[in-house]
Amino acid sequence: MIYLIFIAKIFFPVALVYFIETISLGWKNSSLRRLIYKKNLSEINDVWFFLMYGTGAFSTIVAIGSFGLGWIVGSEMQKTLSNIAGLHFRFDTGYGGLNFACYYLSFSFIEYWNHRLFHYGIFWNFHRIHHTATAMNPLVEHRNHPIQHALEPLLLAWPEVVPEAWTGTGWC
Ligand SMILES: [Zn+2]
Repeated sequence: MIYLIFIAKIFFPVALVYFIETISLGWKNSSLRRLIYKKNLSEINDVWFFLMYGTGAFSTIVAIGSFGLGWIVGSEMQKTLSNIAGLHFRFDTGYGGLNFACYYLSFSFIEYWNHRLFHYGIFWNFHRIHHTATAMNPLVEHRNHPIQHALEPLLLAWPEVVPEAWTGTGWC
């Protein structure tokens, strides 16, 4: 069941973006049409990244490619988050929509600064693969270096888990 949810979380957003793009630009100008009929090497790479990510195979690549960094970050995060959950803070506005808005804003804020961080110094060495696409499409989102995948949970997990720890039940 968890695996199905994982697949849905990966595939549904991409399908939705392809759908919106196709409706907005028309089939003739859509990246989905280009992917099917005129794909180039960049898009073929995007498909591979997406399939590896969507099937979970990329997790293995991250574990090997990051020399265990992903595992260390993940287990340290888990310990830290367990400690936070043990504090039993409560953060609940009383309105599901407002809770969602708080989560969305905090996640977007941290995701933005996380992305900016990866444009500087040594982080750029890992992140620049994301910007090597020569044809834009929704799959480019998953074109990332294993080291970036290993480090990102350290920064991105907080907005998702802190409100969950605070509310005790989680909003999602
Ligand atoms: Zn970037």
